[in-house]
Amino acid sequence: MTAVTVPVPTMPRRRKDPTEIRDPEGAEKKVLLAAPRGYCAGVDRAVIAVERALEHYGAPVYVRKEIVHNRHVVETLSERGAIFVEETAQVPQGARVVFSAHGVSPQVHQEAADLELRTIDATCPLVTKVHREAVRFAKQGYSILLVGHAGHEEVEGTMGEAPEAITLVQNPEEARTVELPETDKLVWISQTTLSVDETMETVGILRERFPALTDPPSDDICYATQNRQVAVKKVAPAADLVLVVGSANSSNSVRLVEVALEHGAKAAHRVDFAREVDEEWFHDVATVGVTSGASVPDTLVQDLLRLLADYGYHEVEEVRTAEEDLMFSLPSELRKDLKAAGLATSNKPGGADREHELR
Ligand code: SF4
Repeated sequence: MTAVTVPVPTMPRRRKDPTEIRDPEGAEKKVLLAAPRGYCAGVDRAVIAVERALEHYGAPVYVRKEIVHNRHVVETLSERGAIFVEETAQVPQGARVVFSAHGVSPQVHQEAADLELRTIDATCPLVTKVHREAVRFAKQGYSILLVGHAGHEEVEGTMGEAPEAITLVQNPEEARTVELPETDKLVWISQTTLSVDETMETVGILRERFPALTDPPSDDICYATQNRQVAVKKVAPAADLVLVVGSANSSNSVRLVEVALEHGAKAAHRVDFAREVDEEWFHDVATVGVTSGASVPDTLVQDLLRLLADYGYHEVEEVRTAEEDLMFSLPSELRKDLKAAGLATSNKPGGADREHELR
Protein backbone atom coordinates (compact mmCIF):
# COMPACT_ATOMS: atom_id res chain seq x y z
CA MET A 1 0.00 0.00 0.00
CA THR A 2 1.39 3.40 -0.97
CA ALA A 3 0.85 6.15 1.55
CA VAL A 4 0.68 9.82 0.59
CA THR A 5 4.22 11.09 0.20
CA VAL A 6 5.02 13.62 2.89
CA PRO A 7 8.18 15.58 2.05
CA VAL A 8 11.11 14.94 4.36
CA PRO A 9 11.33 17.90 6.77
CA THR A 10 14.15 20.29 5.98
CA MET A 11 17.04 19.80 8.34
CA PRO A 12 17.67 22.89 10.46
CA ARG A 13 20.57 24.83 8.95
CA ARG A 14 23.41 26.29 10.93
CA ARG A 15 21.93 29.58 12.00
CA LYS A 16 23.71 32.89 11.90
CA ASP A 17 24.06 34.66 15.19
CA PRO A 18 21.31 37.33 15.10
CA THR A 19 24.01 39.96 15.60
CA GLU A 20 25.46 39.01 12.19
CA ILE A 21 22.27 40.20 10.46
CA ARG A 22 22.70 43.73 9.11
CA ASP A 23 20.14 45.97 10.84
CA PRO A 24 18.19 48.64 8.94
CA GLU A 25 19.66 52.09 9.45
CA GLY A 26 17.61 54.39 11.65
CA ALA A 27 14.43 52.30 11.54
CA GLU A 28 12.67 50.36 14.29
CA LYS A 29 12.31 46.61 13.70
CA LYS A 30 8.76 45.36 13.91
CA VAL A 31 6.28 42.73 12.74
CA LEU A 32 2.94 43.44 11.07
CA LEU A 33 0.81 40.39 11.77
CA ALA A 34 -2.05 39.96 9.28
CA ALA A 35 -5.50 38.95 10.51
CA PRO A 36 -7.47 37.00 9.53
CA ARG A 37 -4.86 34.35 8.85
CA GLY A 38 -4.59 30.59 9.38
CA TYR A 39 -7.35 28.05 9.83
CA CYS A 40 -10.62 28.56 8.00
CA ALA A 41 -13.89 26.91 8.97
CA GLY A 42 -13.58 24.17 6.33
CA VAL A 43 -10.08 23.14 7.44
CA ASP A 44 -11.01 23.28 11.10
CA ARG A 45 -13.95 20.94 10.48
CA ALA A 46 -11.92 18.49 8.36
CA VAL A 47 -9.08 18.21 10.88
CA ILE A 48 -11.46 17.81 13.81
CA ALA A 49 -13.37 15.16 11.83
CA VAL A 50 -10.21 13.03 11.58
CA GLU A 51 -9.36 13.62 15.25
CA ARG A 52 -12.87 12.68 16.39
CA ALA A 53 -12.91 9.64 14.09
CA LEU A 54 -9.60 8.43 15.58
CA GLU A 55 -10.94 8.94 19.11
CA HIS A 56 -14.28 7.28 18.43
CA TYR A 57 -13.47 4.38 16.09
CA GLY A 58 -9.78 3.95 17.00
CA ALA A 59 -6.82 3.72 14.63
CA PRO A 60 -6.36 3.21 11.83
CA VAL A 61 -8.60 5.67 10.05
CA TYR A 62 -7.79 6.00 6.36
CA VAL A 63 -7.75 9.43 4.74
CA ARG A 64 -7.87 9.81 0.96
CA LYS A 65 -5.27 12.45 -0.01
CA GLU A 66 -3.96 14.98 2.49
CA ILE A 67 -6.92 15.98 4.67
CA VAL A 68 -5.76 19.59 4.23
CA HIS A 69 -2.63 20.81 2.45
CA ASN A 70 -0.32 21.23 5.42
CA ARG A 71 2.71 19.11 6.28
CA HIS A 72 2.47 19.63 10.03
CA VAL A 73 -1.20 18.61 10.14
CA VAL A 74 -0.62 15.50 8.02
CA GLU A 75 2.45 14.44 10.02
CA THR A 76 0.67 14.95 13.36
CA LEU A 77 -2.45 13.02 12.34
CA SER A 78 -0.26 10.24 10.93
CA GLU A 79 1.43 9.91 14.31
CA ARG A 80 -2.02 9.52 15.88
CA GLY A 81 -3.01 6.67 13.58
CA ALA A 82 -4.40 8.22 10.40
CA ILE A 83 -3.20 6.47 7.23
CA PHE A 84 -3.05 8.78 4.24
CA VAL A 85 -3.50 7.16 0.84
CA GLU A 86 -3.53 8.57 -2.68
CA GLU A 87 -6.40 6.51 -4.07
CA THR A 88 -9.55 4.86 -2.80
CA ALA A 89 -8.36 1.49 -4.13
CA GLN A 90 -5.56 1.55 -1.52
CA VAL A 91 -8.07 1.39 1.34
CA PRO A 92 -8.83 -2.18 2.53
CA GLN A 93 -12.33 -3.47 1.77
CA GLY A 94 -14.86 -2.36 4.38
CA ALA A 95 -12.47 0.03 6.17
CA ARG A 96 -13.32 3.58 7.25
CA VAL A 97 -12.08 6.42 5.05
CA VAL A 98 -12.28 10.19 5.33
CA PHE A 99 -12.51 12.27 2.15
CA SER A 100 -10.44 15.45 2.35
CA ALA A 101 -11.65 19.05 2.55
CA HIS A 102 -10.90 19.51 -1.18
CA GLY A 103 -13.75 17.26 -2.27
CA VAL A 104 -14.03 14.20 -4.50
CA SER A 105 -15.74 13.37 -7.76
CA PRO A 106 -18.80 11.06 -8.07
CA GLN A 107 -16.41 8.43 -9.45
CA VAL A 108 -14.55 8.34 -6.12
CA HIS A 109 -17.83 7.93 -4.22
CA GLN A 110 -18.64 5.00 -6.52
CA GLU A 111 -15.21 3.40 -5.96
CA ALA A 112 -15.78 3.67 -2.20
CA ALA A 113 -19.23 2.08 -2.51
CA ASP A 114 -17.78 -0.77 -4.62
CA LEU A 115 -15.26 -1.46 -1.84
CA GLU A 116 -18.01 -1.18 0.80
CA LEU A 117 -15.98 1.51 2.57
CA ARG A 118 -17.47 3.41 5.47
CA THR A 119 -16.96 6.99 4.34
CA ILE A 120 -16.80 10.25 6.22
CA ASP A 121 -17.01 13.09 3.73
CA ALA A 122 -15.07 16.10 5.06
CA THR A 123 -15.44 18.08 1.82
CA CYS A 124 -15.73 21.76 2.74
CA PRO A 125 -19.35 22.89 2.30
CA LEU A 126 -18.06 25.80 0.18
CA VAL A 127 -16.47 23.30 -2.23
CA THR A 128 -19.69 21.27 -2.26
CA LYS A 129 -21.48 24.48 -3.26
CA VAL A 130 -19.28 24.73 -6.38
CA HIS A 131 -19.93 21.03 -7.19
CA ARG A 132 -23.68 21.67 -7.01
CA GLU A 133 -23.36 24.69 -9.29
CA ALA A 134 -21.49 22.58 -11.83
CA VAL A 135 -24.16 19.87 -11.78
CA ARG A 136 -27.02 22.39 -12.04
CA PHE A 137 -25.48 24.38 -14.91
CA ALA A 138 -24.63 21.19 -16.80
CA LYS A 139 -28.21 19.95 -16.42
CA GLN A 140 -29.45 23.29 -17.76
CA GLY A 141 -27.33 22.80 -20.88
CA TYR A 142 -24.58 25.32 -20.09
CA SER A 143 -20.98 25.00 -21.18
CA ILE A 144 -18.95 25.69 -18.05
CA LEU A 145 -15.58 27.43 -17.85
CA LEU A 146 -13.88 26.40 -14.62
CA VAL A 147 -11.14 28.85 -13.58
CA GLY A 148 -8.66 26.79 -11.59
CA HIS A 149 -5.39 24.92 -11.56
CA ALA A 150 -4.93 21.58 -13.33
CA GLY A 151 -4.02 18.76 -10.98
CA HIS A 152 -5.43 20.40 -7.84
CA GLU A 153 -7.67 17.92 -6.01
CA GLU A 154 -10.51 20.40 -5.78
CA VAL A 155 -10.45 20.95 -9.56
CA GLU A 156 -10.37 17.19 -10.19
CA GLY A 157 -13.40 16.75 -7.94
CA THR A 158 -15.39 19.59 -9.53
CA MET A 159 -14.58 18.53 -13.09
CA GLY A 160 -15.68 15.00 -12.23
CA GLU A 161 -19.21 16.28 -11.55
CA ALA A 162 -19.80 17.20 -15.20
CA PRO A 163 -16.75 16.25 -17.29
CA GLU A 164 -18.44 16.72 -20.67
CA ALA A 165 -19.63 20.23 -19.84
CA ILE A 166 -16.53 21.69 -18.15
CA THR A 167 -13.47 23.31 -19.75
CA LEU A 168 -10.59 24.28 -17.47
CA VAL A 169 -9.04 27.74 -17.82
CA GLN A 170 -5.97 28.20 -15.63
CA ASN A 171 -4.94 31.82 -16.14
CA PRO A 172 -5.30 34.94 -18.31
CA GLU A 173 -3.04 33.41 -21.00
CA GLU A 174 -5.34 30.41 -21.37
CA ALA A 175 -8.38 32.72 -21.37
CA ARG A 176 -6.92 34.35 -24.52
CA THR A 177 -6.60 31.06 -26.37
CA VAL A 178 -9.30 28.68 -25.11
CA GLU A 179 -11.55 27.42 -27.92
CA LEU A 180 -15.21 26.63 -27.33
CA PRO A 181 -18.04 25.40 -29.51
CA GLU A 182 -20.50 28.14 -30.52
CA THR A 183 -23.03 28.58 -27.68
CA ASP A 184 -25.11 31.27 -26.00
CA LYS A 185 -25.25 29.26 -22.75
CA LEU A 186 -21.88 29.81 -21.15
CA VAL A 187 -21.09 30.27 -17.47
CA TRP A 188 -17.90 30.48 -15.39
CA ILE A 189 -17.24 29.03 -11.96
CA SER A 190 -13.93 28.82 -10.05
CA GLN A 191 -11.73 26.98 -7.61
CA THR A 192 -12.23 28.37 -4.09
CA THR A 193 -8.60 29.27 -3.35
CA LEU A 194 -7.46 31.46 -6.25
CA SER A 195 -6.12 35.00 -6.38
CA VAL A 196 -9.19 37.24 -6.56
CA ASP A 197 -7.41 39.76 -8.80
CA GLU A 198 -6.02 37.22 -11.26
CA THR A 199 -9.37 35.44 -11.48
CA MET A 200 -11.11 38.72 -12.31
CA GLU A 201 -8.49 39.37 -15.01
CA THR A 202 -9.08 35.89 -16.45
CA VAL A 203 -12.85 36.37 -16.39
CA GLY A 204 -12.53 39.85 -17.96
CA ILE A 205 -10.66 38.35 -20.92
CA LEU A 206 -13.22 35.55 -21.25
CA ARG A 207 -16.07 38.06 -21.18
CA GLU A 208 -14.52 40.08 -24.00
CA ARG A 209 -14.13 36.97 -26.11
CA PHE A 210 -17.48 35.39 -25.17
CA PRO A 211 -20.06 38.16 -24.51
CA ALA A 212 -22.70 35.58 -23.56
CA LEU A 213 -20.65 34.56 -20.50
CA THR A 214 -22.82 34.42 -17.36
CA ASP A 215 -21.55 34.96 -13.79
CA PRO A 216 -22.16 32.36 -11.07
CA PRO A 217 -24.86 33.38 -8.57
CA SER A 218 -22.29 34.07 -5.83
CA ASP A 219 -18.53 34.12 -5.28
CA ASP A 220 -16.79 30.77 -5.59
CA ILE A 221 -13.51 32.09 -4.19
CA CYS A 222 -14.32 31.50 -0.55
CA TYR A 223 -14.55 34.04 2.27
CA ALA A 224 -11.35 32.72 3.91
CA THR A 225 -9.25 33.02 0.75
CA GLN A 226 -10.58 36.52 0.12
CA ASN A 227 -10.12 37.70 3.71
CA ARG A 228 -6.51 36.47 3.89
CA GLN A 229 -5.69 38.21 0.62
CA VAL A 230 -7.28 41.49 1.76
CA ALA A 231 -5.26 41.37 5.01
CA VAL A 232 -1.95 40.70 3.27
CA LYS A 233 -2.68 43.52 0.76
CA LYS A 234 -2.93 45.88 3.73
CA VAL A 235 0.34 44.66 5.26
CA ALA A 236 2.42 44.34 2.08
CA PRO A 237 3.00 48.02 1.15
CA ALA A 238 4.63 48.69 4.52
CA ALA A 239 6.68 45.48 4.59
CA ASP A 240 10.30 45.01 3.55
CA LEU A 241 9.70 41.30 3.78
CA VAL A 242 6.51 39.21 3.98
CA LEU A 243 6.66 35.68 5.38
CA VAL A 244 3.76 33.34 4.61
CA VAL A 245 3.49 30.16 6.68
CA GLY A 246 2.01 27.40 4.52
CA SER A 247 2.85 24.35 2.45
CA ALA A 248 3.98 24.33 -1.18
CA ASN A 249 0.87 22.41 -2.27
CA SER A 250 -1.47 24.83 -0.47
CA SER A 251 -2.99 26.92 -3.23
CA ASN A 252 -4.16 29.74 -1.00
CA SER A 253 -0.76 29.96 0.78
CA VAL A 254 1.10 30.22 -2.53
CA ARG A 255 -1.38 32.91 -3.66
CA LEU A 256 -0.59 34.94 -0.49
CA VAL A 257 3.07 35.20 -1.53
CA GLU A 258 2.06 36.38 -5.02
CA VAL A 259 -0.48 38.88 -3.66
CA ALA A 260 2.09 40.29 -1.19
CA LEU A 261 4.60 40.88 -4.00
CA GLU A 262 1.94 42.40 -6.29
CA HIS A 263 0.93 44.84 -3.54
CA GLY A 264 4.26 46.31 -2.59
CA ALA A 265 6.19 43.89 -0.41
CA LYS A 266 9.88 44.20 -1.28
CA ALA A 267 10.29 40.44 -0.85
CA ALA A 268 8.03 37.56 0.14
CA HIS A 269 8.72 33.93 0.98
CA ARG A 270 6.66 30.89 1.98
CA VAL A 271 7.88 28.54 4.71
CA ASP A 272 6.34 25.42 6.21
CA PHE A 273 8.16 25.90 9.49
CA ALA A 274 10.11 28.67 11.22
CA ARG A 275 13.28 26.60 10.85
CA GLU A 276 13.12 27.10 7.07
CA VAL A 277 13.61 30.88 7.16
CA ASP A 278 16.90 32.09 5.78
CA GLU A 279 18.73 34.72 7.82
CA GLU A 280 19.95 36.34 4.59
CA TRP A 281 16.37 37.53 4.03
CA PHE A 282 16.61 39.91 7.02
CA HIS A 283 19.48 42.19 6.01
CA ASP A 284 18.28 45.83 6.14
CA VAL A 285 14.72 44.68 6.89
CA ALA A 286 12.82 46.93 9.30
CA THR A 287 9.26 45.65 8.89
CA VAL A 288 8.33 42.00 8.47
CA GLY A 289 4.78 41.12 7.45
CA VAL A 290 3.54 37.73 8.65
CA THR A 291 0.53 35.72 7.58
CA SER A 292 -0.48 32.09 7.04
CA GLY A 293 -2.62 30.02 4.70
CA ALA A 294 -6.05 28.65 5.55
CA SER A 295 -4.68 25.19 6.40
CA VAL A 296 -2.07 26.37 8.91
CA PRO A 297 -2.49 25.96 12.68
CA ASP A 298 -1.55 29.16 14.48
CA THR A 299 1.05 27.37 16.58
CA LEU A 300 3.33 27.44 13.49
CA VAL A 301 2.91 31.22 13.25
CA GLN A 302 3.76 31.55 16.95
CA ASP A 303 6.98 29.56 16.31
CA LEU A 304 7.87 32.05 13.59
CA LEU A 305 7.13 35.04 15.84
CA ARG A 306 9.45 33.58 18.50
CA LEU A 307 12.21 33.26 15.91
CA LEU A 308 11.63 36.83 14.72
CA ALA A 309 11.88 38.03 18.33
CA ASP A 310 15.31 36.33 18.48
CA TYR A 311 16.26 38.44 15.47
CA GLY A 312 15.19 41.63 17.24
CA TYR A 313 11.63 41.92 15.91
CA HIS A 314 9.99 42.12 19.33
CA GLU A 315 7.23 44.57 18.48
CA VAL A 316 4.21 42.85 16.92
CA GLU A 317 1.32 44.90 15.58
CA GLU A 318 -1.79 43.08 14.40
CA VAL A 319 -3.36 44.40 11.20
CA ARG A 320 -6.93 43.11 11.14
CA THR A 321 -9.19 43.62 8.17
CA ALA A 322 -12.12 41.33 9.04
CA GLU A 323 -13.67 39.29 11.84
CA GLU A 324 -14.53 35.65 11.16
CA ASP A 325 -16.91 33.46 13.12
CA LEU A 326 -18.11 30.96 10.53
CA MET A 327 -18.26 27.37 11.76
CA PHE A 328 -19.38 24.20 9.97
CA SER A 329 -20.92 21.20 11.71
CA LEU A 330 -19.05 17.90 11.54
CA PRO A 331 -19.73 15.54 8.59
CA SER A 332 -23.17 13.94 8.95
CA GLU A 333 -21.88 10.31 8.98
CA LEU A 334 -19.65 11.09 11.96
CA ARG A 335 -22.31 13.13 13.78
CA LYS A 336 -24.74 10.24 13.48
CA ASP A 337 -22.30 7.73 15.03
CA LEU A 338 -21.28 10.13 17.80
CA LYS A 339 -24.92 10.82 18.62
CA ALA A 340 -25.76 7.10 18.70
CA ALA A 341 -22.91 6.65 21.21
CA GLY A 342 -24.24 9.50 23.37
CA LEU A 343 -21.26 11.73 22.58
CA ALA A 344 -21.19 15.45 21.82
CA THR A 345 -21.60 16.12 18.10
CA SER A 346 -20.82 19.80 18.02
CA ASN A 347 -17.69 21.18 16.44
CA LYS A 348 -15.50 23.18 18.76
CA PRO A 349 -15.51 26.93 18.20
CA GLY A 350 -13.72 27.26 14.87
CA GLY A 351 -12.64 29.68 12.21
CA ALA A 352 -9.63 31.85 11.89
CA ASP A 353 -7.05 32.64 14.52
CA ARG A 354 -8.06 29.79 16.83
CA GLU A 355 -5.14 28.03 18.44
CA HIS A 356 -5.95 24.52 17.29
CA GLU A 357 -4.92 21.65 19.50
CA LEU A 358 -2.56 20.21 16.86
CA ARG A 359 0.91 21.10 18.08
S1 SF4 B 1 -10.14 27.60 2.05
FE1 SF4 B 1 -12.33 28.06 1.78
S2 SF4 B 1 -13.12 26.42 0.50
FE2 SF4 B 1 -11.13 25.73 1.29
S3 SF4 B 1 -11.62 24.61 3.16
FE3 SF4 B 1 -11.27 26.72 3.76
S4 SF4 B 1 -13.32 27.69 3.78
FE4 SF4 B 1 -13.46 25.79 2.61
